[in-house]
Amino acid sequence: MALIVQKYGGTSVGNPDRIKNVAARVAKYHAKGDKIVVVVSAMSGVTDNLIKLAKEIMPLPSEREMDMLLATGEQTTIALAAMALHSIGIPAVSLTGAQAGILTDGVHTKAKIQNITPKKVHDLLDDGKIVIVAGFQGETPEGQITTLGRGGSDLTAIALAAALKADLCQIYTDVDGVYTADPRIVPAAKKLGEISYDEMLELASLGAKVMQSRSVEFAKNFEVIFEVRSSLNENPGTLVKEETKSMEGVVVRGVALDKNQAKVTLVGVPDKPGFAARIFKGLGDATVNVDMIVQNISHGAGTPATDLSFTTEKADLLKAQKVIDGLKAEVGFREVIASENIGKLSIVGVGMKSHTGVAGKLFETLAKEGVNIEMISTSEIKISVVIDLAKGEQAMKAVHAAFLGS
Ligand code: ADP
Ligand code: ASP
Ligand code: MG
Repeated sequence: MALIVQKYGGTSVGNPDRIKNVAARVAKYHAKGDKIVVVVSAMSGVTDNLIKLAKEIMPLPSEREMDMLLATGEQTTIALAAMALHSIGIPAVSLTGAQAGILTDGVHTKAKIQNITPKKVHDLLDDGKIVIVAGFQGETPEGQITTLGRGGSDLTAIALAAALKADLCQIYTDVDGVYTADPRIVPAAKKLGEISYDEMLELASLGAKVMQSRSVEFAKNFEVIFEVRSSLNENPGTLVKEETKSMEGVVVRGVALDKNQAKVTLVGVPDKPGFAARIFKGLGDATVNVDMIVQNISHGAGTPATDLSFTTEKADLLKAQKVIDGLKAEVGFREVIASENIGKLSIVGVGMKSHTGVAGKLFETLAKEGVNIEMISTSEIKISVVIDLAKGEQAMKAVHAAFLGS
């Protein structure tokens, strides 16, 4: 008898038939005598629609109220999933994140899990129930509802698997596993049998939305091995786990394209100590996540000035602009240019640590496609470039073909 945490994403619970399909899959494990905790997302499109509704009321709504709103998506699905199990005669009970003992900090819309007290979940499992937990949400010690960032149901599942010391953590989704690239964009992408935490973490942070990046970070920290697999067939999925020696033989494990980035350029920032600090402290205080930062060399006569560009998520752009507008008088830059027409293309692989010539090959491939590189950033196991969004998919296919085959 095993304790299994299974997470079903938005498409896997996207309509009543899909929810019944989940119930049937859970029932099979239940029949074997396993204890099962099911984490579900909101039905596909629901979270996006709630965000759209809020933005129709006001462009920058209160983040506390956003959480109140968004948490309803998952709450709908837990109740429907419990009903689907009841309808086939299986005892099941739904719990909100708070009821499942998921305690978070108070950073609304991207709260971090601080602690899980899974007593209630254990009691219900001991009582023979299947426990269905709302993904993506938690509660602060003061009782405020929070959400864990987009894709956060993955984190709920992995954190629960760690807290419950589960034997197995399965992330069920609408593809067969983790591929060398998003199979919806690159038809030649291949399914990976296994991938290291670090590679999965980079791919996820760089736009491969198959896993929420914070959930992978959590899995790495707590050594939760998990499997990404399809809710629509029985094919084996991809195991995500600690790096093994043989993994280093592969230079590039995967390619990712992030279309959700925006670029902000501050033109004519005084080139003096302390100015960058003021700008990025302001952004940090407003919980704007900044990714790449590029500062040009000084230009202009008299007081030297520089141009400073950074990338952030599109969702944070309005917030970032508000912070920067507020700093204009204090910092004294000339103008701000924001662009949402950028894509961040990245290649990832632990093998890059021990291979040379990877960057050259990437840039050459992009040059052949006529793709201009606007920004570059590298780490030990990845290279990212910011390019024109309109050329993103074409560039991704070409880069995949160059490194991973077509
Ligand atoms: P869920 O609703 O189950 O959480 P998501 O939509 O968040 O599912 O993630 C699954 C999607 O991730 C797939 O449909 C696929 O288009 C996309 N994806 C992006 N990159 C990859 C990749 N490298 N491997 C597999 N899927 C990927
Ligand atoms: N429903 C949330 C979202 O769409 C969380 C999730 O699906 O994991 O981001
Ligand atoms: Mg997801």
